[in-house]
Amino acid sequence: PQPDRLSKIMAAAGVASRRKCEEIIFEGRVTVNGQVVKLPQTQVHPRKDSIYVDGRSLPKNVESLYFCLNKPKGYMCSNDPNGKKLVVDLFEDFMLAWEQKHPNMPRPRLFTVGRLDVATTGLLIVTNDGDYAQAIAHPSSGVTKEYIVQAAAVPSKKQLQIMAEGTMVDGLLVTPLTVALLETGPQVDGRRILVEVADGRHHEVRELAKAADVEVVSLKRTRIGGLRLPRDLLPGQYKLLSPRQIASVL
Ligand code: URA
Repeated sequence: PQPDRLSKIMAAAGVASRRKCEEIIFEGRVTVNGQVVKLPQTQVHPRKDSIYVDGRSLPKNVESLYFCLNKPKGYMCSNDPNGKKLVVDLFEDFMLAWEQKHPNMPRPRLFTVGRLDVATTGLLIVTNDGDYAQAIAHPSSGVTKEYIVQAAAVPSKKQLQIMAEGTMVDGLLVTPLTVALLETGPQVDGRRILVEVADGRHHEVRELAKAADVEVVSLKRTRIGGLRLPRDLLPGQYKLLSPRQIASVL
């Protein structure tokens, strides 16, 4: 590890978000080599300097965690506890086991890689690795995502064509890579549309459907990059990803 800003090192060690770490530093709750330090930009070395937050030593080896989750309906991709159900709350049993194993360490700070709407289900990656999350979620990453739209009625050829032409989302044209009626599988009812996108704009698939007057009954994400939603993962369930799966996303 390299020397870096104190606030960044604290965030990477799982104390809190970078902004929250700055507040903790301003409040005089952090010491470096025995001295209270109040400047978040202070350069520190995560291994060589002795950093304490509220009298507790900063963990030096933070394990990186990578999960895939089948997101259920009604959960928000946010870490802001505002009375809503949060995706990260689904990891409570993992956190309790973690605390038993690491009694003196703060809980890993998990967050979602990108976001799904509250009503959307399916594949979400959850991690404590900010660089990995950034690399995947950034619009320039080129990581493609696959969604299944369940439409209220069988869409016409014209409607599928309009969806395929793309629409403006947040002032930018979103053009899907693929729009196709799903004709295979046990639930062939002509109302399931496969949509593949590379952009990562909020609500983009719902906006594409809206532009074509397709009423969306449900929306599910089934793939991110080379990672498919495992068939045996029920809504609300998650799994640790293998190193190969972690690498397959990008
Ligand atoms: N597009 C949407 O409209 N919603 C999502 O949750 C993801 C992509």
